[in-house]
Amino acid sequence: MDLTGKKALITGAGRGIGKTIADTFSANGAEIWSLDIREPDDLQERVSKAGGKLHWISADLGKTTEVEAVIENALKDSGGFDILVNNAGITKDNLSFRMSIEDWQKVLDINLTAAFLITRTVGRDMIRKRAGSIINMASVVGIHGNGGQANYAASKAGLIAMTKSMAHEMASRGVRVNAIAPGFIETDMTAAMPEDAKNKMLDVIPLKRPGKQEDVAKAALFFASELSSYITGQVLPVDGGMFM
Ligand code: NAD
Repeated sequence: MDLTGKKALITGAGRGIGKTIADTFSANGAEIWSLDIREPDDLQERVSKAGGKLHWISADLGKTTEVEAVIENALKDSGGFDILVNNAGITKDNLSFRMSIEDWQKVLDINLTAAFLITRTVGRDMIRKRAGSIINMASVVGIHGNGGQANYAASKAGLIAMTKSMAHEMASRGVRVNAIAPGFIETDMTAAMPEDAKNKMLDVIPLKRPGKQEDVAKAALFFASELSSYITGQVLPVDGGMFM
């Protein structure tokens, strides 16, 4: 899956799934613009190793009034992107009855509104060029719901509906928009879960293991590459068969 000559913007690429997607795309020849609120400790080392093909953007996607300006700058800096991965996401779990409006809004702002603003800014440029692949990181929870995650599940369900709507809007202009719905993937985000909740998850995964970040990155590579050139508006679960 050769991404040589392709430029990719990946949000939430400082750690976890986003970082692994960045490394995977990079290993397949792409030039990467990683955006995150947190700069990883090994950034300088990674930038010099990538020989000018890894760029860093520090930005807080929770500041929704600033997102479009940040992305416009990235477009100028890069000359435009061939691939966009809206991967940044947060959880602020609680039962709906106890959830503060701030925790509801923060999750919606970062997981959904920022992705909307980034996609239309990058998408406009892709449409002009009549090419591009946009990948939104949803979740199985956005399809099936999950107690204690009304804000997160709503944001991911919104992301799925946004994916399909924007796929309709951009298909005739050569731009594809797809989503990935990971199940239970081993990252810092899920490391915070209690042990018994993790064990319960494993019980319902037919492949009998948690997902690896690489499992998700391989699906992203498929959507980014020409191998998926006739696929748009789809949601691909990467969940070990949890919801087959
Ligand atoms: P993670 O917490 O390890 O990484 C998320 C990244 O997003 C971090 O680097 C973080 O700094 C960045 N980020 C958070 N808030 C930000 C902000 N305001 N501005 C800019 N960057 C910000 O999470 P992960 O497990 O790697 O998850 C990546 C994506 O996959 C998320 O959208 C998550 O919802 C989704 N997902 C994860 C799982 C899982 O099991 N890990 C399952 C389903 C979906």
